[in-house]
Amino acid sequence: MRDPRYDILFQPLQIGPKLAPNRFYQVPHCNGGGYRDPSAVVEMRRTKAEGGWGVIFTEQTEIHPTSEITPFIEQHLWDDRDIPALARMAEAMKSHGGLAGIQLAYSGINGPNLYSREVPLAVSGGPILTFTSDPVQARTLDRADIRDLRRWFRNAVRRSHQAGFDLVCLYGAHGFGIFQHFLSRATNLRTDEYGGSLENRARFVREVVEEAREETKGEMAISLRLSLHEAGKLGFSNAEVRDFIQMHGDLPDIWDLAHGTWEQCSGTSRFKPEAAQEELVRGIKALTSKPVVGVGRFTSPDEMVRQIRTGVLDFIGAARPSIADPFLPLKIDQGRVEDIRECIGCNICVSGDMTHGISRCTQNTAFMEEWRKGWHPERARAKGRSDTVLIVGGGPTGLEAALALGKRGYQVTLAEAARSLGGRVTAERGLPGLSAWGRVADYRTGQIAPMANVETYLDSRLTVEDVLAMGAEHVAIATGATWRRDAVARLHLAPIPTDPAMPIWTPDDLMAGGGPVGGRVVIYDDDHFYMGSVLAELLVQRGCAVDLVCPAAKVAEWTENTLEQATIQRRMLEIGVMLHCSKAPEAIEAGGVTLGCTWTGRETFLPCDTVLMVTSRTPNDALYHAIMARQADWGGIQTVKLIGDAAAPGPIAWATYAGRRYAEELDEPDRGDALSFRREIAELAAI
Ligand code: ADP
Ligand code: SF4
Repeated sequence: MRDPRYDILFQPLQIGPKLAPNRFYQVPHCNGGGYRDPSAVVEMRRTKAEGGWGVIFTEQTEIHPTSEITPFIEQHLWDDRDIPALARMAEAMKSHGGLAGIQLAYSGINGPNLYSREVPLAVSGGPILTFTSDPVQARTLDRADIRDLRRWFRNAVRRSHQAGFDLVCLYGAHGFGIFQHFLSRATNLRTDEYGGSLENRARFVREVVEEAREETKGEMAISLRLSLHEAGKLGFSNAEVRDFIQMHGDLPDIWDLAHGTWEQCSGTSRFKPEAAQEELVRGIKALTSKPVVGVGRFTSPDEMVRQIRTGVLDFIGAARPSIADPFLPLKIDQGRVEDIRECIGCNICVSGDMTHGISRCTQNTAFMEEWRKGWHPERARAKGRSDTVLIVGGGPTGLEAALALGKRGYQVTLAEAARSLGGRVTAERGLPGLSAWGRVADYRTGQIAPMANVETYLDSRLTVEDVLAMGAEHVAIATGATWRRDAVARLHLAPIPTDPAMPIWTPDDLMAGGGPVGGRVVIYDDDHFYMGSVLAELLVQRGCAVDLVCPAAKVAEWTENTLEQATIQRRMLEIGVMLHCSKAPEAIEAGGVTLGCTWTGRETFLPCDTVLMVTSRTPNDALYHAIMARQADWGGIQTVKLIGDAAAPGPIAWATYAGRRYAEELDEPDRGDALSFRREIAELAAI
């Protein structure tokens, strides 16, 4: 039964002509699939409907080929041929009583048009502002173009209506949408009636809203998604946002407010707590009679209630929390708060969009596999013909495998060498800024605890003999990986000359409480993800002077994909870490490290007391190979599989995925050379 404290979250609320059944509002979010994987996206959204979200949105939907953000894969609504896929999406979103929304985007100064090859059109022309500094400029919209653009929005609204959506969201947030470009003096340098005063800069959005209402005869609700604060002297500041809302309080049917850039709005838990944008949004509700929705990586129902009761928000906006747990609303409704699979704020989901792959989620292993593989965030398929499984290793891989196998109905034994479950996340959660990583272990440990068919043994480092003696039909080896002590990773494919007089540490040493305290430390980071900079912070806390060396031109280069790179680089500089980018150690000597420039090979000497290697990891696969060598003694063992980091080290999301995959595929018929997932192929046109 629902805790009455949370009743307010389930009060219906009107959004213009539409009634939202509750306050759970899945704001638009990308998924790396977009137009390329229509059915995968549809079924992903359907799980949100099933999980009780009152309002569910698409990702960015590009309304016209004169503005598209290739290589990013979003939705298209360019002509009527795009309607069927979106109609299927709207039907899925509404399948459990929620409202379906579509986000209409025209990217203006952000769209390089690499696919359509159209000349980009912007409020004020200039170089395209993208992540990749495309060498392309946009032309300034003239009055005729603005009339065209209004008509394109009208067409998109009509098609959205035809597709069955209840709401359209006009995208003007994150610096990505034309509505913000018009409103902001940073991107609107016009001197005509669309530029200058705030009233003039607001003209375009007023016209589009009016025309959208007219086009749908007031039948669709209109949301305006705006940035709460654009930085910079000319930016659309929080004060101006408030002026604008005060002047036009009744313009949209709902205000959807998101902090500044995408990086600011979707900060990782390392840098942003839950409800981080509260200061910027508080008080805005008083300026308008229309409801306000905002995000904040909300996973705690108490925090959600506080946001509503204290008048900060009317709707709880969520992208990542809805990805990590599509069933979050239903779990609160059913009094199952402890079953919520909380987002850990790692932005691996974002990286799927940034890398143009398909998104995945560390916590919800079914995300974007709902259609491709038939996985479900909550349900599991019934077990196959065998009964017993032994899992060796209780890290993210082993835990996810145990949970998914337990749900399928297998008799599972999970053996873990340490005194607690969690593997690498038990260690990593203790590092600066990474405490939320612990949710990976906490959720799974909490879920398997009451399962009568999952038995856990701690403090149990299994040997080959143990495994052979346990008599399980299937054995999964999820024994993780160990950080390397030599410099071998991406740049150096073989060890470099090393004087044994220099103490060398690894992340495992530091996470176990070892490593240097004080003194001068060189960190060599050829991993390029979070670990190098996190350990730099730890060492600064321990009183060390830190030099961070990396072969890339930027620190933690891959974190561009998790939207953290700039914040990490700034943090390193602010805490006094000396950065040596485009450099790598060529030799480790007794008193320091000889660095080579990765461009010129020119060498310099960097004195230090110790070296920390953040390079790559070696799979812990000895147990697996030992068991494979004893096949003659297997007895009733049918299969032995190596999974997760023990097979191929990767991010935590790769580990949970590997655990899920093992559990899903157990006892399934061998698919031979067939693909392990479904995909859609474009229909060939008649030539
Ligand atoms: P993954 O990310 O693939 O789950 P981790 O390194 O997080 O990998 O977890 C591996 C876990 O396996 C660790 O908790 C480790 O203690 C455990 N482990 C390693 N070898 C054995 C073993 N022989 N018996 C039981 N547990 C083991
Ligand atoms: Fe949250 Fe990470 Fe999942 Fe994204 S990938 S929803 S940030 S847990």
